[in-house]
Amino acid sequence: ELHNQIQETKGNIRVFCRCRPLNKEEILAANATVVDFDVAKNGDLGILTSSSIKKVFKFDRVYTPKDDQVDVFADASPMVISVLDGYNVCIFAYGQTGTGKTFTMEGTVQHRGVNYRTLEQLFEISKERSETFTYNISVSVLEVYNEQIRDLLATSPASKKLEIKQSSEGSHHVPGIVEAKVDNIREVWNVLQAGSNARSVGSNNVNEHSSRSHCMLCITVKAKNLINGECTKSTLWLVDLAGSERLAKTDAQGERLKEAQNINRSLSALGDVIYALATKSSHIPYRNSKLTHLLQDSLGGDSKTLMFVQISPSEQDLSETLSSLNFATRVR
Ligand code: ADP
Ligand code: MG
Repeated sequence: ELHNQIQETKGNIRVFCRCRPLNKEEILAANATVVDFDVAKNGDLGILTSSSIKKVFKFDRVYTPKDDQVDVFADASPMVISVLDGYNVCIFAYGQTGTGKTFTMEGTVQHRGVNYRTLEQLFEISKERSETFTYNISVSVLEVYNEQIRDLLATSPASKKLEIKQSSEGSHHVPGIVEAKVDNIREVWNVLQAGSNARSVGSNNVNEHSSRSHCMLCITVKAKNLINGECTKSTLWLVDLAGSERLAKTDAQGERLKEAQNINRSLSALGDVIYALATKSSHIPYRNSKLTHLLQDSLGGDSKTLMFVQISPSEQDLSETLSSLNFATRVR
């Protein structure tokens, strides 16, 4: 059973590394590849650094450019399913802009990503279990940009700033946010489209904006056991993080500088939280960013965390690749 499979695996934090293929421009420019997948079978990844020294990084899984969305989801799926068993789960994609974070999470119509496949699977399994459980699934889509939360499913702009509140039993939520109840995958598709469309509203350059904000899908599952009447509520976060690249010094002024500082702050806050959890620190600094504060219930405790570290194979991106791999190594 899948459930047992999860229990057998060690710890609650997994790190998967995914390398995108060289793109057309890189192939035309005959860019060299710095990634060596010979060792990928064991979850190792070799990077050829300058002077051809091979540095080896260890992961729970490594995906080469040949691995497709089905391969990737097959490994993420046990974790996703555990939300139906009452676990909180958080899956996020980290990496430089252009390395495939959105491809992994959102995907395309032909190559559906983790978000769509997750919901598809949740419906499938809840149907299989319908004699013993009823499940109620709802979805929120939000964006964190410059430390501000925006509800991407809201039909009218929020009258006041969205804030994170803690309920009396300790769980975190955003009062006023739209929670769309979904009963089948067609409804999900509409909701995901609406969220995706809302993301571009008010920005001159959609891609640029999305690389500077965190896009967060929150799936809430309420389960009722029909035999013993027990009810549970759990959440699954699917997060497409802002690009991790450092800002060029020449661009570091005004609005750009502020954006970059906020991205830095939230990504390092995320790293700090996961590191604190991994090293069993007594203080977990969730409150240092909106991102970690929002994810608080799904990071740590008995919740399950999966991070995709996305990288480029091109020599041109080597320094960002090393920086992403170092980030991932620190949290593992
Ligand atoms: P990011 O969200 O990290 O900025 P994207 O997901 O937008 O990156 O990916 C950049 C480009 O590379 C897109 O055109 C995407 O379709 C393509 N791409 C990324 N990963 C893969 C992959 N594994 N296989 C094929 N194409 C990919
Ligand atoms: Mg993206």
